[in-house]
Amino acid sequence: MKEMTLTRNILAQAAATPGKVALRMGGARMTYGELAKKARQEVELLSAWKKHHPVIFPGDRGLDTVAGMLGCLLSGRPYVALDPAAPVLRQDQVIQDVEDAGEDLPGLAYLMYTSGSTGRPKGVEITRDNLDFFLGATRTLPPEPPGEAVWLAHAPWSFDLSVLPLWQGLSRGDRVVWLDTARGVDFPRLGEEMAASGATCWVSTPSFARLWMRDPGFGPEMLPRLALFFFCGEVLDPGLALALMDRFPRARMVNAYGPTEATVAASLTAIPWELAEKGEALPVGRPLAGVSLAIAGEEGDLRPEGEEGEILIGGPGVGRGYRGLPSLTRERFFQRDGVSWYRTGDIGRLEGGQLWFHGRRDLQVKRRGCRVELGDVEENLLALPQVTGAAAGLGGDRLGALVVTAPGSRVTASGLMAALKERLPPSLLPQRIFLVDSLPVTSQGKLDRGAAGELLRARMKGGLRKDGGV
Ligand code: AMP
Repeated sequence: MKEMTLTRNILAQAAATPGKVALRMGGARMTYGELAKKARQEVELLSAWKKHHPVIFPGDRGLDTVAGMLGCLLSGRPYVALDPAAPVLRQDQVIQDVEDAGEDLPGLAYLMYTSGSTGRPKGVEITRDNLDFFLGATRTLPPEPPGEAVWLAHAPWSFDLSVLPLWQGLSRGDRVVWLDTARGVDFPRLGEEMAASGATCWVSTPSFARLWMRDPGFGPEMLPRLALFFFCGEVLDPGLALALMDRFPRARMVNAYGPTEATVAASLTAIPWELAEKGEALPVGRPLAGVSLAIAGEEGDLRPEGEEGEILIGGPGVGRGYRGLPSLTRERFFQRDGVSWYRTGDIGRLEGGQLWFHGRRDLQVKRRGCRVELGDVEENLLALPQVTGAAAGLGGDRLGALVVTAPGSRVTASGLMAALKERLPPSLLPQRIFLVDSLPVTSQGKLDRGAAGELLRARMKGGLRKDGGV
């Protein structure tokens, strides 16, 4: 088994400066020496297991989990972090899926589970080479302020945005500060942690930064060393970008784009003030060195510069596929001239070397930075015994669902919501459920998505409330 550059770097740092703080979370901290020691203990513990069998880490995001995940990378076993906010049933689906792997999964760094349109989470297989490639391509990203680089992030380890600050931070021998948001965002407590962090490099979705804009104390007094906002995972609105630049005039801003399937990010670009000030859609970047981007038409034909189509990502960051889903893997992943490619389902265009994001060609949406397959919400509603029809959709950043129940059923919208909470994590839960007699259909008798979406948005505006929507 080839040693990873990532693990070699971390162990070298531990040997050189064992007393240096590697990680901080709440009141807990771990030095590079402790991290390496605990990771080696994990390797010992795992030695009795199948050689490359994935190892599941429960939702607890404590620092020991990081040492455990590092132990996995050292021993050649992929790690799988469970979403701490997901209900037991959803976590069990992931555990079951991993157990079904049965045989070993050599060459993988981790399996990352994301919303699946069939109503179950799907596991993206990211290899050790994918991860090393991505870290190599983004190693010089943080500006070098005088003194130590400190990363600040909060995404759970089950979300691929955790990969950059965690593994890049540790690979570079920097300090990594994690905000524990598993039980919500406690502004005073997290504000104090931020102020004590000395952070130079912020990594989050734009939604998380937007949340902090509500706090008048969020500014250079709280984060005096902040030199970089790194955003990825959803549209960065120019208004938010400008508001952040106003508060943090000395911090640079980077907008990055990419799906979990291509290892965190495939492209990125700096967003200067002059660009955000125009108030127009912001670009999502130029490809990372070694990554290729292409735009494909309906027939798979490649589109010329400036034309819109599906974004294809090629290169060493493209993962192996979906665990246990060979036909979906064949549909979305392909090889051409020895290069791995992924069909993102995103619509975009390339112009002047920059990529622009125009939305999706399917039923995947982003809500507060979290990936939501509308089919996932609908299938889980349909799994409830009283439900005979369901259509989910977004209204602004709020998720809603129209639901038809079986004749004679006395279930209420809030009863359905309670039942759904047992099945879906908060990121996939509709804020509003509306009981309707029937769903709009097309002339072919299929669900009319356009009409259902309009109905949902009208109801979510609060116009029609006869139905006891919650
Ligand atoms: P995830 O796998 O959770 O990272 O979600 C990936 C999806 O998020 C992409 O396929 C895009 O639809 C969306 N996305 C990622 N980065 C951006 C960005 N900078 N701007 C707009 N959408 C983005």
